Amino acid sequence: MNAPGAPVELRYSVCPHDCPSTCALEVERLDARTIGRVYGAEDNSYTAGVICAKVARYAERAHHPDRLTQPLRRRGPKGSGEFEPISWDAALDATAEALLCAEQRHGAASVWPYYYAGTMGLVMRDGINRLRHVKKYSGQYSTICVTSAWNGFIAGTGRLAGADPREMAKADCVVIWGTNPAHTQVNVMTHAVRARKERGAKIVHVDVYRNATTEQADLAIILRPGTDGAFACAVMHVLFRDGLANRTYLERYTDAPGELEAHLRTRTPQWASRITGVPVAEIEAFAQLVGRTPKTYFRLGYGFSRVRNGPVNMHAALSIAAVTGAWQHEGGGAFHNNGAIYHWDRSMIEGLDALDRSVRVLDQSRIGPVLTGDREALMGGPPVDALFIQNTNPMMVAPDHNLVRRGFAREDLFVCVHEQFLTETAKMADIVLPATMFLEHDDLYQGGGHQHIMLGLKVVEPPEGCRSNHELICALAKRLGAVHPGFDMSPRELIDWTLLQSGWRGVADLERERWFDVQPVFEEAHYLKGFAWPDGKFRFKPDWAAVKPQGFGPQGATLPVLPDHYDVIEEANDAMPFRLAPSPARSFLNSTFTETPSSVSRERRPTALIHPADAARLGIVEGARVRLGNDRGSTVVHAKLFDGLREGVIIVEGIWPNAAFEEGVGINVLTGADPIGPVGGAAFHDSRIWVRPA
Ligand code: SF4
Repeated sequence: MNAPGAPVELRYSVCPHDCPSTCALEVERLDARTIGRVYGAEDNSYTAGVICAKVARYAERAHHPDRLTQPLRRRGPKGSGEFEPISWDAALDATAEALLCAEQRHGAASVWPYYYAGTMGLVMRDGINRLRHVKKYSGQYSTICVTSAWNGFIAGTGRLAGADPREMAKADCVVIWGTNPAHTQVNVMTHAVRARKERGAKIVHVDVYRNATTEQADLAIILRPGTDGAFACAVMHVLFRDGLANRTYLERYTDAPGELEAHLRTRTPQWASRITGVPVAEIEAFAQLVGRTPKTYFRLGYGFSRVRNGPVNMHAALSIAAVTGAWQHEGGGAFHNNGAIYHWDRSMIEGLDALDRSVRVLDQSRIGPVLTGDREALMGGPPVDALFIQNTNPMMVAPDHNLVRRGFAREDLFVCVHEQFLTETAKMADIVLPATMFLEHDDLYQGGGHQHIMLGLKVVEPPEGCRSNHELICALAKRLGAVHPGFDMSPRELIDWTLLQSGWRGVADLERERWFDVQPVFEEAHYLKGFAWPDGKFRFKPDWAAVKPQGFGPQGATLPVLPDHYDVIEEANDAMPFRLAPSPARSFLNSTFTETPSSVSRERRPTALIHPADAARLGIVEGARVRLGNDRGSTVVHAKLFDGLREGVIIVEGIWPNAAFEEGVGINVLTGADPIGPVGGAAFHDSRIWVRPA
């Protein structure tokens, strides 16, 4: 404990959560096991001293009385939450025995290690793949969040990288599209607001409802979900029509400007208005603003990933910057994620030298169909008989919840969950193992939404009984007879090896400097020497078939040749006249923070935002209980009358636990697990539903 009056010790770390901001942190260390307040690092040029409130009060989560500290074995029926404490050795033995048993019964592919981004640290998140590859367990195609949006961006530029996000502060117009950063990546607002303060820049927000980001914008465009492509096409129609297209840039840097212009002649603001719900005057105003502001920065978000036409919409929005030539200017261009700039050698962390490409790979988003024996989802292979889960909570976050629940309830399925809390997924497990949090182990991070390689070293000791993901994987490997040099390395050694093999300086330098700023030079980030295709041209006509490995998208999908409204969304019909877009809550992060009382009290309860005109038609009043339903199931929430969305659209913020709903069934009972074209993904913001007073 710090002596009374002594300055509180500050340690450096990195936010590990599934958020593109990847903030550089300063953490008050009160004693060997206790943290105090958490701050954003002032001297990190992207974090700039700002973090979100939920992480600032992280002590509430780290020292939560409900943290798991004891391995558990199921005693009662699946999902009953009845467990008995057991030792770590007994838990590891039982898990190894069950995995070996599944392997003997239906082969190694019947074991499915399943994970996602509960931590974004490369060692603790991705080490599970080392065990997978060495043991030839089924692969995981990770589609639940980024696949669709990433591929839409790459379809145009050829590379997942863009203009330095700090350049937002140098823009004359910042377009924030398909993201609500005031809730989900607060630093975008830091740089956008700086542009307005320092240079009078305009902030534009394009989203499916008015939210905390919109409140800070000068111009708001509120679309019907899944209609961004139509809006983008009409904007580009106006740019060509009014002489605002940069023809010199188009000729030099793009593949088919003439074909695009001809194609867009029919994509008028009137046409788009009917599809998007956006008034013609607003489409015209947006087009005039971005067309007459050379330094326009398009910050494109993950909302594009959540609809069945997401990749096409992302590509269409991205195409606007190529029509105006905004890429040429500092403070202009577009950005989605910087994944390509880090060129990691992941072979030691992930055991890629042991990867056997003949082993079956399963789509993470289709865990419901996989666990319930859907032949197509199983890729023609054996059933999944054993799940080993780290860093994710599919009982809350996976689509088509009824199928997921049915799958987890299978008596012949063994489930081991390594977790920090007894989540709804952990409750379905046979063995539950307590996990460390990020301040209790070492890890390496990359900024998806910026350009820093960062080191998060252990700040405090974990609670007695918790083990890190790496410790668990190595201990299991021993019992399973899995051999790889990565199992004998410490996290720090893995970090050092990965840095050096990837062409960066080693961990000692990173520890001293806290982060490496690896921003590519201006010409590269702005594609001034050409886009990342052999001919150097931005593609208005993507080669969708070549974008990514095939086999995971919908069968027979034919995508538009040029930017367009790709009409494959779950459009409303007479029986289901509403479109549902569950959206991120400010105080939760996916299913994380739903266990902290302060976050729950801020979010209050599962609530459907409904347009007052729709509510009046249905006889729904403020605060009324309403049932939302479709062919997949139904759930009950409370209504909030709200005119910041289009009629026929319903927003429910936050992935609440199923238990927070009065019938114990949450919002993902309504979302579909059918894959997005062309490369898979889950369309969380794209469900048609009916709404009735409950
Ligand atoms: S804004 Fe994102 S990265 Fe930053 S502290 Fe909050 S959750 Fe973490």
